[in-house]
Amino acid sequence: MQIYGVIGHPVVQSLSPVVHNAAFKALEIDASYKTFDVEPEDLGNFMEKARSDISGLSVTIPHKVEIIKYLDKIDERAKKIGAVNTIKNKNGILKGSNKDIDGAMQALEEVTEISNKNILVLGAGGAARAIVYGLTTKNAKVTILNRTLEKAQQLAKEFNCNFDSLENLKKHTPEILINTTSVGMSPNTEGSPVPKDFFKPQMIVFDIIYKPLITKFLKQAKKAGCQIITGEKMLLYQAIKQFETWTNQKAPVEIMREALMEELHRAS
Ligand code: NAP
Repeated sequence: MQIYGVIGHPVVQSLSPVVHNAAFKALEIDASYKTFDVEPEDLGNFMEKARSDISGLSVTIPHKVEIIKYLDKIDERAKKIGAVNTIKNKNGILKGSNKDIDGAMQALEEVTEISNKNILVLGAGGAARAIVYGLTTKNAKVTILNRTLEKAQQLAKEFNCNFDSLENLKKHTPEILINTTSVGMSPNTEGSPVPKDFFKPQMIVFDIIYKPLITKFLKQAKKAGCQIITGEKMLLYQAIKQFETWTNQKAPVEIMREALMEELHRAS
């Protein structure tokens, strides 16, 4: 049996095992997807064993950056972003890539064109890096706002876009608004990164948080008449890309979606 899994710390709450195991079962692939809770100081030892024992890994917080030094190759996009969320083991050669970009871009492109759109990204952390990179490669006009201004400035410089401080939020009138901060994430569901009067009916509003599925940010956006995109779509679409990278087979999308939604509703 092939072994796959998610490596992080902590990982108990991960939704990935349910999604990937449902896909393996549906395609009758003899594989199992597990959780690997690995502390940062154990990462090197774990990766040494992974080389002989594990066929593929999803990578989550806090290892997405540090893990790069244990890999044999990483693709261009992961190199640009400086973070890996997917590893494929091919005959002991570990190759890293980043599928968060695909997950976020597909979730957006299902409802809108990206090219030339005026897009405001809230946050400048790991997820923002993948999203800003994806948006700029699609010729969007991106502005980054972040609590810590220097991080917004740094990210904007790397990907050749604009930045501003959160205090200037109201000066912006984006066509697309994306929350990549953790504000509003369970258990602190009463938070929202913007005041409710910021939303205008013509905006497309995407929150990458998926716990809860409908954050306060999205609730208020919807009430204001905006079209909303929920965070589990990014999670699902990146999982589909991971599965196809590992197996070279077409992923059973609807089975993976059902497994994810069932688990999200069970956990809420
Ligand atoms: P991260 O690297 O820790 O970045 C966190 C971001 O949130 C930073 O920009 C931080 O600002 C900001 N932030 C945190 N607390 C804040 C507060 N109280 N007020 C204002 N800003 C605040 O985390 P990440 O990996 O990017 O993940 C961010 C969120 O995205 C998490 O909720 C995660 O679950 C979600 N996510 C979803 C997916 C998906 O597939 N849907 C994928 C990845 C991540 P500072 O720079 O000022 O600290």
